[in-house]
Amino acid sequence: MRFDIITCLPRLLDSPFSHSILKRAIDKGLTEVHVHDLRDYSPSKHRQTDDYPYGGGAGMVMMIEPIHRIISKLKEERPYDAVVYMTPDGLTLNQKMANSYSLLKNIIILCGHYKGVDERVREKYITHEVSIGDYVLSGGELAAAVFADAIIRLIPGVLSDETSALTDSFQDDLLSPPVYTRPAEFIGMKVPEVLLSGHEKNIELWRMEQALERTKSRRPDLYDKQHVAKPNIS
Ligand code: SAM
Repeated sequence: MRFDIITCLPRLLDSPFSHSILKRAIDKGLTEVHVHDLRDYSPSKHRQTDDYPYGGGAGMVMMIEPIHRIISKLKEERPYDAVVYMTPDGLTLNQKMANSYSLLKNIIILCGHYKGVDERVREKYITHEVSIGDYVLSGGELAAAVFADAIIRLIPGVLSDETSALTDSFQDDLLSPPVYTRPAEFIGMKVPEVLLSGHEKNIELWRMEQALERTKSRRPDLYDKQHVAKPNIS
């Protein structure tokens, strides 16, 4: 799976893809992440990518021409399944969306800055608009990194068995159960007995109960979905 991320601040994306699971996924050839400096596609000699808003008001707006140039160039090189604009007024990212995006092959991600992009970019080039939550960041780079991370960890082979994404929160609309590691007792705090028992069935049952309990108390909205989804077997 290939990501082409368009930004006017490419250095902001150096770190997220240079460590841990995402780096290993890239090193193993399970994903490719290409970061493009939008300024390289500016027609102006000062590499300008933004300008004053028509109608006045605070903040700058990202111009259409550099974005047109880079997206057209990328599309000439290969087909894309999605051209995503990171934006606070997009569809709020959730696990199901990440699951669906993880099935795609080539994705362009456009990071906004300042007041955002000229609306004509959204009309002409953008196929999907994604928000990472109801708050406003300074730029789309951190949002793009969050979006790509949520997707890349779902690509088969990226996570080892022990950290399988299938047991993470939100798969099946459940939060994860609590986890423990050594020591079995620390300043009087003990690991639940069942996890030390070696009894696989009981451990599985305990984890399911804990996941349901945690979902019920922390995310009643998700817990209610469980009730709707589960057949009444009594
Ligand atoms: N004027 C815009 C608004 O109020 O919707 C906010 C622009 S914001 C300062 C600059 C850029 O950061 C946006 O174009 C977008 O790419 C990115 N951004 C900010 N918050 C985001 C969020 N919650 N999710 C995704 N991207 C976000």
